[in-house]
Amino acid sequence: MASTKKRDYYEVLGVSRSASADEIKKAYRKLALKFHPDRNPGDKAAEEKFKEAAEAYAVLSDAQKRSQYDQFGHSLGGSGFQGFQGFENAFEGFGDIFGDIFEDFFGGGPSRGGRRRRSRRGVDLEYHLEISFEDAAFGKTVKIEVPRSETCKPCGGSGAEPGSKKSTCHECGGSGEIRMNQAFFSFRQTCPRCHGQGEYIEKLCRHCQGSGLMRRKRQIELKVPAGIDTGNRIKIGGGGEIGERAGEPGDLYVLIMVKPHPIFERDGNDVLCETKISMVQAALGTSVEAPTLYGHVQLKIPAGTQPGTVLKLSGKGFPDVHGRNQGSQLVRVTVEIPKHLSDAQRQLLESFSESHQESKLKSLFSKWKERFN
Ligand SMILES: [Zn+2]
Ligand SMILES: [Zn+2]
Repeated sequence: MASTKKRDYYEVLGVSRSASADEIKKAYRKLALKFHPDRNPGDKAAEEKFKEAAEAYAVLSDAQKRSQYDQFGHSLGGSGFQGFQGFENAFEGFGDIFGDIFEDFFGGGPSRGGRRRRSRRGVDLEYHLEISFEDAAFGKTVKIEVPRSETCKPCGGSGAEPGSKKSTCHECGGSGEIRMNQAFFSFRQTCPRCHGQGEYIEKLCRHCQGSGLMRRKRQIELKVPAGIDTGNRIKIGGGGEIGERAGEPGDLYVLIMVKPHPIFERDGNDVLCETKISMVQAALGTSVEAPTLYGHVQLKIPAGTQPGTVLKLSGKGFPDVHGRNQGSQLVRVTVEIPKHLSDAQRQLLESFSESHQESKLKSLFSKWKERFN
């Protein structure tokens, strides 16, 4: 993710750095409603604004991430806030934020004594896998490495440095709110120390900077089935990002790209290729060695084969990925006309032409005779 031109999250939401959780939520709700893709169909700028706001909200609404962001700003983007890449692909993430927001909006607001935190399903991931033409035909087991966020092992996902613990916030005694007295009034405000969470990490885990997540490359053995084609997706349930707060993990989708072959082309489950023969071979018939996915085979070309004729080698195509009919290899015959002739060849062709004309006339004559007899 490009972090060079990233706007400050507080600026994005139009709130001050000391804004309470409620102020942040209200500001985000306003922006989200204004720039929601459903309200701005096809408007790329609005979509960008919507994503930007969602990202800012995702960080600033989470006390841990917010305090990290306050300390380190976007510089942490590389490791700390990776989760938001998911917004690029999956719009699902929004549903939860929205659900949360509308619930609060219509459902009477957060309960006293801390926010109820819902679990959230992990984001789906997509992996692009390029395979050879032959591997697409015969299938293959490949090892892929998929980077994803996993629970930080040293801190067990708590975000607290091993040995130090999350402790009850002493500023608010764990309630997430503090009482302010001003003149004759006394009112409650979100605790600025723990941002309303009620607990406080004394020392951030140095492996994950307090996020509780770690970026890891996960090795997966993937069975690519025979007959697979470009654009097919293989789903690995639970192979996506881990869920937040014990939410289900997302899924991993492996998108297949089949590399082009130097001589073969694919059409559905059929393999297409060409073979060149001379005009004499076309006229007299011949047998050529044809390459197939399964090795060379002898292909009989019958006498009188016309240019462009397609000959079929049954069963020499791709197996069907769903186990239905196996494809064929279709060989298109092109006929070469000689560009330069020796004198002897020219004479031979000329005498051939004469006899050809004669036989043509004869056959015309006999047809004509048949008609009028
Ligand atoms: Zn507190
Ligand atoms: Zn950690």
